[in-house]
Amino acid sequence: MLNKKTVRDVSVKSKKVLVRCDFNVPIDKETGNITSDKRIVESLKTIKYLINAGAKVILCSHIGKTGQNKTLLPVSKRLAELLEMDVLFIEDIFKDNVRDVIDSMQDGDVVLLENTRMTEKEEANDEEFAKYLASFADIFVNDAFGSAHRAHASTEGVTHFLPSVAGFLIEKEIEALDHSINDPKRPLVAIVGGAKVSSKIGVLNALLDKVDTLLIGGAMTYTFLKAEGINVGKSLCEDDKLDVALEILQKAANKGVKLLLPVDNVVAKEMSEYTEEMTVSVEKIPEDYMGLDIGKKTSALFEEEIKKAGTVVWNGPVGMFELDKFSSGTRKVAEAMADSNAVTIVGGGDSASAVEKFGLEDKMSHISTGGGASLEFMEGKKLPGIEALLDK
Ligand code: ADP
Ligand code: MG
Repeated sequence: MLNKKTVRDVSVKSKKVLVRCDFNVPIDKETGNITSDKRIVESLKTIKYLINAGAKVILCSHIGKTGQNKTLLPVSKRLAELLEMDVLFIEDIFKDNVRDVIDSMQDGDVVLLENTRMTEKEEANDEEFAKYLASFADIFVNDAFGSAHRAHASTEGVTHFLPSVAGFLIEKEIEALDHSINDPKRPLVAIVGGAKVSSKIGVLNALLDKVDTLLIGGAMTYTFLKAEGINVGKSLCEDDKLDVALEILQKAANKGVKLLLPVDNVVAKEMSEYTEEMTVSVEKIPEDYMGLDIGKKTSALFEEEIKKAGTVVWNGPVGMFELDKFSSGTRKVAEAMADSNAVTIVGGGDSASAVEKFGLEDKMSHISTGGGASLEFMEGKKLPGIEALLDK
């Protein structure tokens, strides 16, 4: 449950409302086009609500990294199309006339401020910058779930200067994630994959306290296998995390969690679409080969667990799905989730892209818009952008 006030709990009529969205969308370098507008679409509910409630809507977001100076201009265009109305883009938020523009807004008008990361003060959570942003508005709405794990000027800083509430996307994300791991329909099955054990230790540990079954795939498989004394050839492996892997296996055993590691895998000499691949059992990885996907036997075992689940939480692809040759394990996981009647939750940026790539978005109960934020939430960490909002 989100124990924070939301836009429903404040009166916004004729008020200037600063809304922090997560418009950090992927942009094609050559064409300048937005390649996935999911995050913009997901922000519409709050924006439309505020427009209809007669607020003056001042949107802000970061895009890209500090120093890249990416522009939100394509976002303002896409947003205008989706809202079917004008969205005034403010290309320099430090210009003197910005305040005049905002003061002349009518109820229901929408403006978008340029990338908050045009200045290094955003990530530094600079107080003066936060105060400056806050000075444009009467109320702050945070709806940027994807940035909620970061205390930056436009996510946390502004809350010190304005009454601050959550938007509908943050509410939806928290309810979905919280419900799925803290009050799940059982059995609760988690699939954790991706590249590194080191980036997932926290979530693996936290999940072991909650789940009935844990399925491990992806490159992190090989750290576990090596820890068990299996030769993993050229597979990605974190040699300094072997003890961590053993601890996780031990914890699963102590807790009675059914933990499945791959039994077979697709291996190749290099990470390439043009290389020759073969499927071997995990004990038989040749010295000069690396594991790049789970094999058919493993897929079948994983599918069986997914079929039996009441809730499935997925974080991290089980193979190098960006290459078609090594995508079938990840596809099978996604398809099994899509076909199941369980509550299905996808957290993790690359897992979400995988689901998108396979065209299965509509078949999942919830796909998080925040990779890092959903991971930290599942780890049981507090998200500063949400903590700072007014309590219910
Ligand atoms: P998420 O963003 O969903 O949390 P991660 O960022 O942890 O996932 O990991 C995703 C990356 O892991 C993908 O780029 C994928 O190619 C890579 N990956 C998965 N399995 C393997 C593997 N066996 N070998 C190399 N890379 C892998
Ligand atoms: Mg990732």
